[in-house]
Amino acid sequence: MNVYLDNAATTAVAPEVIEAMVPVLQESFGNPSSSHAVGRKSRVLIEQSRRSVAKLLNCHPSCIYFTSGGTEADNLALRSAVRDLGCTRIITSEAEHSAVIKTAQSLQRSNGVDLDLVDHLENGQVDLNHLQSLLAKGGKTIVSLMHANNEVAVLQDIEAIGKMCQNHGALFHTDTVQTMCHYSFDLESLPVDFITCSAHKFHGPKGVGFLFIRKGLQVSGQIEGGSQERAVRGGTESTHNIVGLAKAMELAYADLEGHQSHVRALKAQMVEGLRAAFEDIRFNGASDEMDKLYTVLNVSFPPHPKSGMALFLLDLEGVACSGGSACSSGATLGSHVLRALKFHDPKRASLRFSFSRYNTQADIDYALNAIQRVFASK
Ligand code: PLP
Repeated sequence: MNVYLDNAATTAVAPEVIEAMVPVLQESFGNPSSSHAVGRKSRVLIEQSRRSVAKLLNCHPSCIYFTSGGTEADNLALRSAVRDLGCTRIITSEAEHSAVIKTAQSLQRSNGVDLDLVDHLENGQVDLNHLQSLLAKGGKTIVSLMHANNEVAVLQDIEAIGKMCQNHGALFHTDTVQTMCHYSFDLESLPVDFITCSAHKFHGPKGVGFLFIRKGLQVSGQIEGGSQERAVRGGTESTHNIVGLAKAMELAYADLEGHQSHVRALKAQMVEGLRAAFEDIRFNGASDEMDKLYTVLNVSFPPHPKSGMALFLLDLEGVACSGGSACSSGATLGSHVLRALKFHDPKRASLRFSFSRYNTQADIDYALNAIQRVFASK
């Protein structure tokens, strides 16, 4: 049996999404910028997709800029805030995805922006008092803090952070790659200026996402070339991927509560099974608690001679999970997030299990048995 519990890294493409994409590849191959009927057909598909996405998030379609995914959207938000919107300071956190933290460091080197890293409380929450004091320093600032951490499932209160930013005249970007289509968003009322989305985290295709940019913020592109996406993202649009993203989002929001309760039950089953099997099991970031990102469980196993091999041995058992984020899977260095949040313990193996609506109770039973076999062996 093969069990896929690495849905925070990526998800299987939904059959309905494939069904929506194939005719686009077969028939709607026109360049959306062409003025003839073949091109216009592709343009219509893109604009329909944009409207559908905007409706589900309650924002104006003109706020949605399609990109190649989350990494590009994160880059676009920070780079345009500095280049076009006069930001001279970035406030972010060491626990952010590398698409944010490395972009911020790069802007510090190349543009001389000030970079401040906000502290986290012991539970992984952003220290709002520290954020407040950093914002009080003044200077045109963009704050970039993710909604949910992709490794340890800590959820930040983006409403409170956004309000704090507004009160200080700062821009606010939040990476919602792990929460988009897993929670609902009302972008009309949520105090955010930029939001990042990536389709492959919710059963959409890889290589497509978008950046929401609040109306009124005038930004230009980060790559030179064509004037697609209103000159914010040059390059011929990936029509089939954009259609796939919109379809995946439509499916996710058509039964959000159903998906949430299904996945929450699987996570609870996993937590219960692990607690029954191991005396000293711990959950990094208190990711077992139900107010955390419900798709992710980060488990710290008791010290064991096979700790360093656990990921590999589970893979041999047919269970796909992760040792951190996708980019650090299998790496021995450990996770920058666990280190930043002080959850890292070199004696214990930390594994991330992440669930989707396609997982079943039988998957969890199988994974629990496989985990016990791995940790029973000496
Ligand atoms: N941000 C977060 C929180 C992520 O988990 C990921 C993917 O792992 C990304 C950004 C990057 O998204 P993409 O793979 O679409 O570039």
